[in-house]
Amino acid sequence: RSLSEEFLVEINKIIDYILNENKFVVTSHINPDGDNIGSSLAMCGFLDALNKEYIYLLDDDYPSNLAFLNKEGLRNTSDQVSSLEGYTVIALDSGSYDRICIDKNLLETAKGIICIDHHHTNGDYGFINYIDPKASSTCELVYNIITRYEDIKSRPIIGSEIATPLYAGLVTDTGNFQYSNTEPSSLLMAADLIARGARKQEIIENIYQKNSPAYYRILGECLNKLEIVDSKICLAIVTKDMLDKYGLEYGDIDAIIPYTRDIDGVELGIFIKQKELDEIRVSLRSKSHIDCTELAATFGGGGHIRASGCTFRDKSLEEVREMLLEEAKKLF
Ligand code: 5GP
Ligand code: MN
Repeated sequence: RSLSEEFLVEINKIIDYILNENKFVVTSHINPDGDNIGSSLAMCGFLDALNKEYIYLLDDDYPSNLAFLNKEGLRNTSDQVSSLEGYTVIALDSGSYDRICIDKNLLETAKGIICIDHHHTNGDYGFINYIDPKASSTCELVYNIITRYEDIKSRPIIGSEIATPLYAGLVTDTGNFQYSNTEPSSLLMAADLIARGARKQEIIENIYQKNSPAYYRILGECLNKLEIVDSKICLAIVTKDMLDKYGLEYGDIDAIIPYTRDIDGVELGIFIKQKELDEIRVSLRSKSHIDCTELAATFGGGGHIRASGCTFRDKSLEEVREMLLEEAKKLF
């Protein structure tokens, strides 16, 4: 996909702004995923190459299968920083202001926000907004920015250290190049990143081939209890009790989500996770025609057409299940 004039304007604005400023905060959304972490670390690498001062802020834990991407000591949390005065925030992959993973009182002290994202529910909360819902991943947008800089300055920036997190995000958000957002541009980017030293074997092993035995046990229990409704909606539930029983964290079970969608005939997968007794997180996935954002938006969430999420507080699992099913059936 060649870059349209509209996006080139935003990309150029971002490059000019970064070149003319010195202090940045790099952040992303709550419940971090590969695209979130990959795009953040690649942006940090870009700022490093430009000798900019920056803080990488994220008030959430990395899922264990993404820990390999973390650069030890690089990430800070809001309680370690007293003010962001003079800092410009670069918010990556964050579909709404609310989802930015920084304490909001602290965020308010910053100079402003540059938003780089591919969620079509994004509310344009930045003073520069580079938002392309057709992009495979936020990593693809960061790649577009860095390669544009490389072209303008005839200066190579992307080596293995930036290519690896970018490739990790691309792999995560395209389901390892399976989903409908896998465009020619995604594959061209993948080829270029591999040529530049992306450690693709390390990425695949860490993201897909490091499951713990406990994960298989919880997966087994969860799949045993799958509920299929009208042959086209599939529901899976993981309770807090199950997490505790297997000694797993809520972030360790995301790989269960696709099972709900991948059954023959099923169009919509609903994965209900009881993160805490009073907090239930829901992941929605569709195969080919249902718009998940519509269902997520009914409950204050959002995301992408084929992958969305929402959160329920102070509701029981049964209440959440019933509310979701009732609304989901209306989409067919
Ligand atoms: P997941 O199911 O993997 O948590 O999320 C799928 C997609 O939906 C991700 O792109 C994620 O950022 C987005 N998403 C998940 N939960 C929410 C939410 O509560 N609000 C919004 N706006 N987006 C969400
Ligand atoms: Mn993403």
